[in-house]
Amino acid sequence: MRLVDRDRAVVWHPYTQMLTAPAPLPIVRAKGLYLYIEDGRKILDGISSWWVNIHGHSHPKLNEALAAQARELEHVMFAGCTHRPAVELAERLLELLPRGMSKVFYSDNGSTAVEAALKMAWQYWRNRSEDRRAFVTLHHAYHGDTVGAMSASEDSVFTRPFAPLLFSVSRAHSPYCYRCPLGLTRETCNIECLGDLEARVEELGGNVAGVLVEPMLQAAGGMIVWPAEFLAGVRRLCDRHGTLMIADEVLTGFGRTGKMFACEHAGVSPDIICLSKALTAGYLPMGATAVTNAICEAFLSEDRTKTFFHGHSYTGNPLACAVALASLDLFREEGTLDRVAALEQTLRAGLEPLRRLANVGDVRVIGGVGIVEMRSDEPGYLNDFGPRVGAALLDRGLLLRPLGNVVYFMPPYSITQAETEWAIRQIAEVLGKDIA
Ligand SMILES: *Cc1c(COP(=O)(O)O)cnc(C)c1O
Repeated sequence: MRLVDRDRAVVWHPYTQMLTAPAPLPIVRAKGLYLYIEDGRKILDGISSWWVNIHGHSHPKLNEALAAQARELEHVMFAGCTHRPAVELAERLLELLPRGMSKVFYSDNGSTAVEAALKMAWQYWRNRSEDRRAFVTLHHAYHGDTVGAMSASEDSVFTRPFAPLLFSVSRAHSPYCYRCPLGLTRETCNIECLGDLEARVEELGGNVAGVLVEPMLQAAGGMIVWPAEFLAGVRRLCDRHGTLMIADEVLTGFGRTGKMFACEHAGVSPDIICLSKALTAGYLPMGATAVTNAICEAFLSEDRTKTFFHGHSYTGNPLACAVALASLDLFREEGTLDRVAALEQTLRAGLEPLRRLANVGDVRVIGGVGIVEMRSDEPGYLNDFGPRVGAALLDRGLLLRPLGNVVYFMPPYSITQAETEWAIRQIAEVLGKDIA
């Protein structure tokens, strides 16, 4: 039996309508930018395997780090035990992260990094005997699929079936300036959205446990790029209202927006920062939640009920830590951030002209992400434009997964200029045809 038929018989895929979805691609191996399919075709991974890969697939240095670690220590529980890879990774992350971060808490993926952040923020106030019970988040947010992370995300097709299970949050407008939620111009959208956020915080009085945002780039919610002043404003208003700023850098961390961390675009330090995805360069699932000293201190007590009772079986997995460390070495050795800067230039040069296509509404580029939003009366994830364009691009050897009417290209940073230009040409031709 073919692999895809055996798959059909036993496997349930994520975000996939198993009745109508096309058969999955049987991938036999991957190297650098390319995925190799069972039938011998190769396709360019233009989505970094769901935003996790940064140095290319099967990188010799990462492979070696993983193998070497497996020979030493593959895993051990992380309560009551520790090991060099986890300690060294925390040290290295704290050197790189925005100033003020002082401890790293490991978990398993992006959703759990956010889940841990929300629970820490909640218990932080409780441990200080100030019960604060509200979170403020943004429209178009996506923070993951566990129940807490879903609660904090936008009310959408992803979360709606579970609505009664979710805790309520207060949602403010985000500066989606192309479709300004307040109907304003690009120039004033930013300021008024910040005003809306402040209004949400103010109406909750002193009850806000934290403000959770995806800095600079709201990804799954539509690839929305912010003006940096909005991010600076979020920090200022959290300070003004004495509440915690939580930055979900699960996607934006590790160079995706051109800076090591997106918070650097506005020179801000959050109180809590969530990491995952490119943390292990796309090799292994791991999350990390870093916090300031003030937050850890609120958990230090002779009273054991003030402990942070949260953990996962694979917390601090040594294999994942070893690959993460090797990935950080590659940032230095391969000049990774310079590569992202070059990629950004190529994306800008290639995608900006697409504004001239009649059905293109907006073009946005930040770091290693190039975005084309199509004009649409029904924007959103369920717009069938996405699957159609995805299939046409796949025929040409380019793997993308548009979010409804929003087409984006997010390759590993190791892509060459010629490969980027090739990919942009495929996108331009398909969008040109589709529109015609
Ligand atoms: C992907 C993503 C998550 C969830 O991460 P998973 O590893 O898929 O659970 C959370 N926040 C943001 C911003 C993300 O992009």
